[in-house]
Amino acid sequence: MHTTHTDSTAFKLPPDVIEFRDLAKRIVREELLPLEQEFLASPKHAYGMRELPMVRAVFKPEVAERLFKIARDTGLWYLMVPEEHGGMGLSMLAQVAILEQLNYSPIPLPMANVGNILYECKGDQVERFLRPVIEGEKTTAFAQTEPNAGSDPGGMMQTKAVRKNGRWVLNGTKMWISNAAGCDFLMVQAVTDAEKRQRGGITMFLVDRHNPGMRVEEPGIRTWLGPNPTQYVVHFDDCEVPDEDVLGEVGKGFTLGQRWLTIHDRLLRGPYALGKMQRALDMSVEWAKQRVTFGKPLAERQAIQWKLVDMHIDIQSLRSMTYEMAGRADSGEDVRAEAALVKLCATEWGARCVDHAIQVHGAMGESLELPLTVFYRYLRHAQIGGGASEIQRILIARSLLKG
Ligand SMILES: Cc1cc2nc3c(=O)[nH]c(=O)nc-3n(C[C@H](O)[C@H](O)[C@H](O)COP(=O)(O)OP(=O)(O)OC[C@H]3O[C@@H](n4cnc5c(N)ncnc54)[C@H](O)[C@@H]3O)c2cc1C
Repeated sequence: MHTTHTDSTAFKLPPDVIEFRDLAKRIVREELLPLEQEFLASPKHAYGMRELPMVRAVFKPEVAERLFKIARDTGLWYLMVPEEHGGMGLSMLAQVAILEQLNYSPIPLPMANVGNILYECKGDQVERFLRPVIEGEKTTAFAQTEPNAGSDPGGMMQTKAVRKNGRWVLNGTKMWISNAAGCDFLMVQAVTDAEKRQRGGITMFLVDRHNPGMRVEEPGIRTWLGPNPTQYVVHFDDCEVPDEDVLGEVGKGFTLGQRWLTIHDRLLRGPYALGKMQRALDMSVEWAKQRVTFGKPLAERQAIQWKLVDMHIDIQSLRSMTYEMAGRADSGEDVRAEAALVKLCATEWGARCVDHAIQVHGAMGESLELPLTVFYRYLRHAQIGGGASEIQRILIARSLLKG
């Protein structure tokens, strides 16, 4: 673990970022919260769906288009897009501050959510794959996991790609692939050199959703994350992919995937959890003040106060950690182990914080009219998805013991 002390200015958000963050906060309060009941009652919201298709599935077209327009007009649509691709080039710290606000509601504000590896697109791949995803015209899925390869994809991956007649031919099965049925193309990892595997023997392919050699099993896998399955088993049977649809270099597909997971995905679990945790605390404080048992509001009971305090401690600790790590990432430090720490704490503390909120609310905490169970399930899931807690601990231990 790096021991460098953080420059305290890392926490000082520039005025334009504060303005943007407050704008996000206002949009959530004025536009998203009033729609929350409708969103939570809809059987169409589903974990793993992309933001724009999700609001289009749940809301009337005029409501979905209004949210889309707000995101486009304010620039929030491009929040996570690098400057060279039309974004504002915001620092990681700025993204964290704004995303924390947007995660206060379970309703996603539609925005370009590209998944950093796609920025590796070269030549005409940019127009065919990257640009349409940035603009919300196409969506993707990321296919790494297999029935027997989850935490150790590099060592256990069975899906293979071999060269035949000038094309790549993929064979194998992927599992748990979010958005596989609804996407336009998949980013698929396959072994191209069985000796080298994760050290130069895994390649990333861009595979069209309607490639005749690929089949998405319907229905998807049912989970507790929602009534609509959005994770799928995907089969590749002599699935042909041309050379020009290799993403990045042949053999470098594993490194690409890890690069995305380590910084983009793991660090941004911080604001993902923080928004939900802050909402859970705000709701709990309000509820405790007005709910009376045995002649007194819950807020006057020490057992309840301590739950609120424990939630507050988790939020403050996670916020300090996340903002510090984002600042250090911005200053060019290698924060891979720190990002693992943020992911671990965000998902574990996040779920326990929302668990307290459910307890403070009693039966109401379990009502699907409140966002608490959705928050809980998403944060509990995040202790498994994208590298489980144990894997984050392994990475952190490795960094601690290095040298
Ligand atoms: C809702 C959902 C969405 C998903 N979306 C996608 C997606 O879009 N694309 C994709 O590729 N994958 C996706 N996944 C798969 C996800 O990334 C894997 O489930 C995750 O990486 C864990 O792999 P596994 O389930 O095979 O667990 P396993 O690897 O079988 O591990 C089982 C348990 O053992 C622990 N464990 C493993 N190894 C060790 C060790 N050495 N020491 C100690 N403990 C260990 C793990 O942490 C875990 O708790 C999704 C999964 C879910 C549930």
